[in-house]
Amino acid sequence: MPELPEVETIRRELAPRVVGRRINEVEIRWPGIIARVSPDIFRQRVQGARVTGMGRRGKYLLWTLEPEGTVIVHLRMTGQLHHHPSPVPGDKHTHLIMRLDDGSEVHYRDVRKFGRWYWTSAPEEVVGHLGPEPLSPEWTVEEFAAALGRRRRPIKALLLDQGVVAGLGNIYADEALFVAGIHPLRRGDTLHVEEVRRLHEAIRQVLLEALHAGGSTFSTYQRPDMGEGTYQRRHRVFRRTGHPCPVCGTPIERIRVSGRSTHFCPHCQR
Ligand SMILES: [Zn+2]
Repeated sequence: MPELPEVETIRRELAPRVVGRRINEVEIRWPGIIARVSPDIFRQRVQGARVTGMGRRGKYLLWTLEPEGTVIVHLRMTGQLHHHPSPVPGDKHTHLIMRLDDGSEVHYRDVRKFGRWYWTSAPEEVVGHLGPEPLSPEWTVEEFAAALGRRRRPIKALLLDQGVVAGLGNIYADEALFVAGIHPLRRGDTLHVEEVRRLHEAIRQVLLEALHAGGSTFSTYQRPDMGEGTYQRRHRVFRRTGHPCPVCGTPIERIRVSGRSTHFCPHCQR
């Protein structure tokens, strides 16, 4: 379940090891992770290319290649990207290996196999559905208010909707709603301007805190050097059912919203 802070941490730590390198070889061990093009086409386009940049949109990682195209990776539930300074064999969950021209390797591991790798000459076809980037200065309270005001679903579900704002998942949606003092079942079109402003600020706050901590590691998220994030130690409500609320001491409750576990303080969140 890597969300924006985890994917951005991976980008920041992987980019200096990969950008500028030529991809000498691509080994695809489980073809089912390759989307949009056939595994053969993917290999042909990527093998021999040079990585000229590594960006992020929402939870997607975008590798710009020379002479052409973009590799887009979505880690979904359990995908991991590791960088090894010298060759290692990988294990039964290693589904793709890129061998770089400095002898290092990028390994993709994915226990659940829900992650996907794309090669495309038109990245918008893969990431064009995404809403604004929450850490971008272009994402304004006014834009957020307009997006929420048109929608009747619970605010928790709207925060998970990648078309409303890109990159939030279950962890940071719950944390942001707690910081903003908003009940996860409130309908989007019932939030007052002041509440939207608080939520907009809370989203940025929790994302920046998590980025600073290298993300949250529960089960499978790891950084490219196999290290872990530390933000899980600072979660206020996420997976803290029954623990006291850090503000008022009321036990944190868990409900389901749109099929997703949702953690909140019944006293602080209205
Ligand atoms: Zn509370």
